[in-house]
Amino acid sequence: MERYEVLIVGGGHAGAQCAIALRQNGFAGTLAIVGEEPEFPYERPPLSKDYLAGEKPFERMLLRQPAFWSERNVEMLRGRPIVSVDPAAKVVTDADGNPLTYGSLVWATGGSPRRLTCGGADLRGVHAIRTRADVDQLRTELAAAARIVVIGGGYIGLEAAAVLSKLGKQVVILEAQNRVLARVAGEALSYFYESEHRAHGVEIRTRCAVECLEGEGRVQAVRLAGGERIAADLVIVGIGIEPAVTPLIAAGATGGNGVRVDAECRTSLAHIFAIGDCALHENRYAGGAAIRLESVQNANDQANVVAKLLTGQDAHYDAVPWFWSNQYDLKLQTVGISAGHDAAILRGDPDGRAFSTVYLKQGKVIALDCVNMVRDYVQGRRLVVEGLSPDPAALADPAVPLKELT
Ligand code: FAD
Repeated sequence: MERYEVLIVGGGHAGAQCAIALRQNGFAGTLAIVGEEPEFPYERPPLSKDYLAGEKPFERMLLRQPAFWSERNVEMLRGRPIVSVDPAAKVVTDADGNPLTYGSLVWATGGSPRRLTCGGADLRGVHAIRTRADVDQLRTELAAAARIVVIGGGYIGLEAAAVLSKLGKQVVILEAQNRVLARVAGEALSYFYESEHRAHGVEIRTRCAVECLEGEGRVQAVRLAGGERIAADLVIVGIGIEPAVTPLIAAGATGGNGVRVDAECRTSLAHIFAIGDCALHENRYAGGAAIRLESVQNANDQANVVAKLLTGQDAHYDAVPWFWSNQYDLKLQTVGISAGHDAAILRGDPDGRAFSTVYLKQGKVIALDCVNMVRDYVQGRRLVVEGLSPDPAALADPAVPLKELT
């Protein structure tokens, strides 16, 4: 039976970084990453950006070259989904029934795209963007597609829409809420991105309920509640993810929307950690609420915490959340979590396409969204980390550098 002192399940950002950090921290024991995908670990953000655009070769998305893993004695067990966990015996089993035993288990499985539950969801031509395989398949169908409907106005849907409209496609975004990015950003940012997309010829429809997808074998249209039919040669569904935690929950781990972890990324099961998109953790930047963060930052920082703990060091997760999104020539950088803000201050002029929004709660800065404003992003971090309460008039004045307000 294969036995590893540390076994990492999932070879995405979190799993790969955990293995890298373990070796960097001097861990010399047996170590493997067992993952569902056939590839070596790769960056996921380009999937909706330059890889979708055909501007970045896959090789440049690899987090490390294949030789890196063998040189550091990290066994890469690719194409092997884990389907069950026995925490008492410290054994996991893959889909072919092969058992692997572990000393410590790091669960880093991310999530799978949430699927539509309506009729027609399984038609050909309906795509998600989560893996390289998803995007490779999507790209093979692009040439024959003129009209593309994107269901979901979150970051991934908007990024894909930007790429596809640049490729000359007619793109329609359908968003269920009253604005795009409603879950993650304030109104000003949502409206700014809506107008940018419209200026690039993308049609944005908000408050849209999808009734079903129509077509004979292959999708031809999206039907909305109310009966309207929107023609589509291809549909992209970007409505979030379901954390991939079923085997862990079945094994008794506490959780639901993700697997619950403490500040050391420990699950309720002995010797089992969880990190990355699937880890439901209390986050002080969300006012102590239990949340999952879907970002490279969170994946890397939680991975580093576990690597330290497994090499006998003290560590706990308390990193400030940050994220980025590229659409057209707009680079958005966010720091903190804006949900729950009670005031939003605009710095600069959105018409000038370089501005920031500072989010406050009870006078304290809790987050910033910075569009083409790297300086605000860099200097504003401290405001968020320390929860400072600068003068609102100074915050609103882009001539006042944020570092002067810390
Ligand atoms: P993943 O990277 O998803 O890796 C999980 C791995 O585990 C996968 O390979 C999966 O196949 C595997 N797995 C799942 N179940 C099992 C199982 N049972 N057994 C074995 N293996 C399993 N973040 C940003 O910060 N900025 C961005 O601009 C950005 N853009 C993004 C664009 C796209 C299109 C996507 C999909 C994500 C983007 N993200 C971005 C989010 C970021 O990529 C994720 O937060 C990050 O990948 C999370 O890392 P993870 O290791 O937790 O999960």
